[in-house]
Amino acid sequence: MKDYKDFIPGSGADPEEYGVFASSVRKSGKGAYVYTVRTPEGDRIVSESSAGFKGESFARADGMTCVLAEDSHENAELLRELFPFAAPSAVLAEKRTVGTGDRLGLATPGHLRAVSGSGFFPILAQQSVRELTLTGRTFEDVLDCASRAVFREGYTAGWGADGDHLKTPEEVEYALAAGYTMITLDCSAHIKSAKGMSLEELRAACGPYDALKEEYLGKDIELPGGIVIHMSEESLLRALVIYGGAVEFASRIYHEHIKGRPVDFEISIDETDAPTLPEHHYFAARELVKRGVEITTMAPRFCGEFQKGIDYIGDVEQFRSEMKVHAAVAKAFGYKISVHSGSDKFSVFPSVGELTEGHFHLKTAGTSWLEAVKLVSIKDPALYRELHAFALEHFGEATAYYHVTTDLDRVPPLESLSDGELPGLFENSDARQLIHITYGLILTAKKEDGSPLFRDRLYALWNTYEDDYAELLERHIGRHLSMLTGRC
Ligand SMILES: [Zn+2]
Repeated sequence: MKDYKDFIPGSGADPEEYGVFASSVRKSGKGAYVYTVRTPEGDRIVSESSAGFKGESFARADGMTCVLAEDSHENAELLRELFPFAAPSAVLAEKRTVGTGDRLGLATPGHLRAVSGSGFFPILAQQSVRELTLTGRTFEDVLDCASRAVFREGYTAGWGADGDHLKTPEEVEYALAAGYTMITLDCSAHIKSAKGMSLEELRAACGPYDALKEEYLGKDIELPGGIVIHMSEESLLRALVIYGGAVEFASRIYHEHIKGRPVDFEISIDETDAPTLPEHHYFAARELVKRGVEITTMAPRFCGEFQKGIDYIGDVEQFRSEMKVHAAVAKAFGYKISVHSGSDKFSVFPSVGELTEGHFHLKTAGTSWLEAVKLVSIKDPALYRELHAFALEHFGEATAYYHVTTDLDRVPPLESLSDGELPGLFENSDARQLIHITYGLILTAKKEDGSPLFRDRLYALWNTYEDDYAELLERHIGRHLSMLTGRC
């Protein structure tokens, strides 16, 4: 292959022949060409020096001084400034949106292939603080990886960046300062349990509530689609006990940190033990709106189980009937339902799409990691076996971070499987969860001498088979999107 240093943009030469991504070649407002090239160390941005990128200078074949830009945060900031499409924006108001968190910083090309032509707007950078901690990354790094990939692919349709499951004002400010355009506020620490409380106990816990009584009790609460909610005193008090603190917390965060900024605000009440009853969802939404909170999306905790990386566990009919009301509440207050832990919930996707009339946000993340490990099982069975054995050994530690009901006895022993059968493990829910929740341990595991146990070998494989990874993602995420839109 010819060298990228010989490529002269605007000369009519085919960029691909020189190891340059054709979709990336662009002129900045200042007139300097910028493009992404392949190097043995991975993709890098090259620019004519007047653009201002920092890095190693070289003379191009036509004599122009160019820079092989470092993968630094500073350069990513400049990239976003020169090419605004490489910066995230608030896109949640679009009808269909999908969060495609990329824990490895490698999945964006596949995610873009999956969404292109689907009518979905992607939230390409989407990471919780828990994920940052487990992978040893930063909000800046996650966003920069997405920006560089968006630039490389020439994707100009718009995308978002979600600081996911943020729990404190400090975390919210950190994500905002890093340029995130969506804040998902996790209210779980402010949600209380009202389990087993009698009406008397609820009354005692709530104190005077005459104003609320007048607002909620003894009337038909009419929602779009002819849905009517009747709130009993007990249900109202229960809602107040469970969600009262969360409403005050979310309202405070909104007014002190979000209001007036061009960001999408998601309220997450999904990470709790008890499912959000539809009338409680109504209560929380109404109370937030009363306090002037502009909600873009809300994530209730649905009935049944939304465990990571596997299909829905529970009664699909009950899910349907409750989703109908959740969707009507969201419509009444002008926001969208957000479905968390949305990967692989194939049995309820058609209901989500239908009952929300196509207005929803779906969050996925771990499933893209699983596809990356599936690629390892296909391309390097020996490495996969090593990683699988490690995951089995450390599974217990990982369950401190994720709620799963995995039965390791249902994972076939490695020695019973031929190399060709290894990818089949990714059809097995228990094996999926084994690999899913151990991602942080796998990525940060070290040998005795302190060097990474798996990380470097994994990244080398993923870089070599980048196109195969994009293909797996296009197929797998694409299947999510088509089931959600009824195009399957
Ligand atoms: Zn969640």
